[in-house]
Amino acid sequence: MVKYFLAFSFFLFSIQLFAQQTDVVDFLTIKASITPNIKEKTVNGGLWVTFKILKDADSIYLDGKNMKIIQHHINYDFYITSTEDKIWFKRRGMKAGDIFSTQFMFEVAPKQTLYFYEDQIWTQGQGKYTSHWLPSIDDVNDKIEFDISLFAPGNKTVIANGKLTDIENDSHGQIWRFDMKEPMSSYLVAFAIGDFRKKDLISNSGIPIELYYKPSDSLKVEPTYRYSKQIFDFLETEIGVPYPWQNYKQVPVRDFLYAGMENTTATFFSEAFVVDSTGFNDRNYINVNAHELAHQWFGNLVTEKAGEDHWLQEGFATYYALLAERDIFGEDYYYWQLYQTAEQLKAMSDEGKGESLLNPKASSLTFYQKGAWALHILKELIGEDSFKLAVENYLLKYQFYNVNTEDFLEEVRAVTYVEITQWEEDWLYQSAFKAEQAYQSLLKSSFINKYFEVSSLRALPFSDKKLQLKTALTFPNDFIGQEAVYQLVDEPISETLPLYKNAFESNNLYVRQAVALSLQTIPKELQSEYESLLNDDSYVTLETALYQLWMQFPEKRVEYLNKTKGVDGFQNKNIRQLWLTLSLITEGYENAEKENYLKELKNYTATEYSFEIREKAFEYINELQLWDIETLKNLAEATVHPTWRFAKTSKELLNNVIQNKKYHEQIKILGRQVSEKAAFYLNSIIKE
Ligand SMILES: [Zn+2]
Repeated sequence: MVKYFLAFSFFLFSIQLFAQQTDVVDFLTIKASITPNIKEKTVNGGLWVTFKILKDADSIYLDGKNMKIIQHHINYDFYITSTEDKIWFKRRGMKAGDIFSTQFMFEVAPKQTLYFYEDQIWTQGQGKYTSHWLPSIDDVNDKIEFDISLFAPGNKTVIANGKLTDIENDSHGQIWRFDMKEPMSSYLVAFAIGDFRKKDLISNSGIPIELYYKPSDSLKVEPTYRYSKQIFDFLETEIGVPYPWQNYKQVPVRDFLYAGMENTTATFFSEAFVVDSTGFNDRNYINVNAHELAHQWFGNLVTEKAGEDHWLQEGFATYYALLAERDIFGEDYYYWQLYQTAEQLKAMSDEGKGESLLNPKASSLTFYQKGAWALHILKELIGEDSFKLAVENYLLKYQFYNVNTEDFLEEVRAVTYVEITQWEEDWLYQSAFKAEQAYQSLLKSSFINKYFEVSSLRALPFSDKKLQLKTALTFPNDFIGQEAVYQLVDEPISETLPLYKNAFESNNLYVRQAVALSLQTIPKELQSEYESLLNDDSYVTLETALYQLWMQFPEKRVEYLNKTKGVDGFQNKNIRQLWLTLSLITEGYENAEKENYLKELKNYTATEYSFEIREKAFEYINELQLWDIETLKNLAEATVHPTWRFAKTSKELLNNVIQNKKYHEQIKILGRQVSEKAAFYLNSIIKE
């Protein structure tokens, strides 16, 4: 999976308290029919499970959290019963080698892993447990072939693992049946139900690729999924092992907990990556697209045995995503990304917080980026051909099984005479980041050499570097040009003015963006150049430029607002919400419409909108102190939102707002108008 904030520590898989069960029984297939009850937020299911006994036993179990067994097939073969977190199958004298099948029905109100929204239902298994909605095995070491059928209302689309074999109409809705051919770990089981359409592609190797989208986003399909086929074909060739599953689907879901998740054959990703052509320049889906696809091999085909092998999934997915990006954006981009992560890893290491790649409690930065660096250095050490051969052998030998780090290393040693012991020490065991080795590797890029020449000017007085910065800003490289702009910040504007002119004239989107983001006071001499930023194909630039211009040139506010009217911006409506806010406080601007603008802005705090939209709306409502019963109610609901980061900022905001006496009174009487969960939280802060 890809997480947004690398600083947060990563949730590891289950501590394997019950690992011994994999020695007693091997679950072979689970066929499940699932009915989500949207109103009640519960699930009814039927399960038909087949398993092979490995060691004589009288009872075995599946994981199942708070599940009620409603009825089981009366064949008296098994006594099936549920406890708080397990479903037990009891039968005297099961012998090693016996294969059994049995079935039962269950009901559950999932506390997590399965999320219900107004317009969508989706699951997230990794870091949660699939056993919250589906009896399965929390331990990643038992791979099962899952065939899922889902019942959904007739107007909805269902996406799940494997191949859709059949849609059956029923008087109340439709049953969607999916078939898997191969086994996988339970955390990779997933489904999504919503209003989706799809665009179909076929890979060079003939794999069907389905790109899902909401009907309202039909114009964003091309930029959102740009390069998808190229990425797929590239990775399949680069990895050297054919894509191992029947098809590949990608689905943007609302309020997703992470950036993306590599459910087998069905990657789910955050709706925030659904962009138009302008948004594509600022935040595109390419990296996450490639990362989750790489997991279909590294993680799904071969799966880590335990937490200390986690880099075999995240390090590999990060590294192969980087290779896919190199294929699209070129060598400079590749080295730039490596340089960026080397800086972060070095900073962490210099603080004494470096982590071994094999530490099961390491941070995302270590698992993902240090893991990618380890592979980059390994490939340099043993050569591209050996590296590719080792990876190929490793995947083929362990396909549909679990692996540890030693399994990979054995395959490396088998294809090369190059000694890798020192590499193992430096990159796997060592907690410090090998910054000097990384630096030497980066210097192989002539672009990085040029970048270092410019960044090393930082310490020099302006007069000594003026000429070099001017050169860097004339026909600039994206990254070197930005570096030059940032070196202008603390210098007197009388000196830097001609260089800013160069930056504007470069017509480089990212260099101009660097000016927008770093120039705090706009000198009169640069006003017209700065105004031209409103035409740039970047919502990051536009948001900053509109705000700065509105602040610094009050006499032209109406002109700026007219120019940016009707622009939404990113999925979180960053431009629209800023525009509404500025319009509301611009005296004399569209007075007749002000009431509608206010209503629109307040409405964006409502639960029907994604948390990204709501988060921004709360900021502006708070900025203008426009709280009322409705927006306070929406804020109270936000404090118990499943996306914990949003819930956390909402709690902080509510705790802040409640300090105001006026709002305190209003919040006190909200209790009966919000959900039970929200009321519970309100109660806890009002008492304090
Ligand atoms: Zn990942």
